[in-house]
Amino acid sequence: MKKILLFILCIILLLPAGCAGNSPKRYQAEFLTLFDTVTRIVGYSDSKEEFTELSQSIYDELEIYHQLYDIYNDYDGVNNIKTINDNAGKSPTIVDSRIIDLLLFAKTQYIKTNGKVNVAFGAVLKIWHDYREQGIDDPENAALPQMTELEAAAEHCNIDDVVIDEDASTVYLSDPMMRLDVGAVAKGYATEQVAKHFEAKGVTSLLISVGGNVRAIGSKADGGNGNTNPWVIGIQNPDKINENTELFSVEISELSVVTSGSYERYYTVDGKQYHHIIDPETLMPAEYCTAVSVICRDSGLADAFSTATFNMPVDKAKAFINSIDGVEAMWVLPDRSIEYSANFENYKQN
Ligand code: ADP
Ligand code: MG
Repeated sequence: MKKILLFILCIILLLPAGCAGNSPKRYQAEFLTLFDTVTRIVGYSDSKEEFTELSQSIYDELEIYHQLYDIYNDYDGVNNIKTINDNAGKSPTIVDSRIIDLLLFAKTQYIKTNGKVNVAFGAVLKIWHDYREQGIDDPENAALPQMTELEAAAEHCNIDDVVIDEDASTVYLSDPMMRLDVGAVAKGYATEQVAKHFEAKGVTSLLISVGGNVRAIGSKADGGNGNTNPWVIGIQNPDKINENTELFSVEISELSVVTSGSYERYYTVDGKQYHHIIDPETLMPAEYCTAVSVICRDSGLADAFSTATFNMPVDKAKAFINSIDGVEAMWVLPDRSIEYSANFENYKQN
């Protein structure tokens, strides 16, 4: 059954390699069932069979993370983030070390970003999520949450109430009203762990994109002539009405590019769009920028920083990014002007 399902969901495209002989060819696989988004794997291989096998094993690894980090669904025999939420205020949940590691990582990013990305913000995020879903289903009656409702939920977002016992491998939410929401970090963190796993197994050139959360293993090994070139990644134009789907491209090797944007998930109330990244200070969708793209090695960091900097005034976000070695970012502002961190433009394709 699983095989049949994967056959339907996985599209392997054989694209022209642009080179004669038996040089490696470019392959691409797409999966539609992970992290509520499209997963795309691009690589160069001598045979379709070899590439299919590799992309299938990447899918299998990612699927484990997908189940562990799911906040909405149960899986047989799996204690996941939803299980932890269901047991808030009741009892600690024994979990896989990959959940402990994600939450320890998320706590570190909370501290680094001064709380701008907070996985314990789920009580507030659930309210926005429910209003958004309802507003998308029934646009005529789309409404905004009451501020009093948001403020009451915000009382239950203290990350210190996420109690992690590494020795016992348990997580306990000591506030019964608390909910974890790992949407801001889970995709990037999972992508990073899976990329590292396959690097350790000897994969030297591959591109993994989980919903635009891009992680490059090595460079692009094309041509079969021993040459390597950087991967070329388009930065999406936030205006879908515009014909150009990309603003420009960046060239990267062994790096991640992750974008957070207000155009990704939103609903409309009285003609105004309300998106899915919520500023912990105002409890409202942040309005400092339209999109922010972060480039750095670690895709988990890039994901955490893209959400966190989205929630900062752009001058503060820029100072924050410039203070960290090996991290660059660019912002598309509401007026569509673009701001860059100190060295981002070095990655721009000429
Ligand atoms: P996406 O995953 O949609 O590409 P992000 O990485 O920016 O974009 O994550 C957005 C998700 O993170 C939201 O859907 C929500 O689940 C969660 N989120 C929104 N605001 C915050 C916040 N301030 N802190 C932590 N998580 C947040
Ligand atoms: Mg993020």
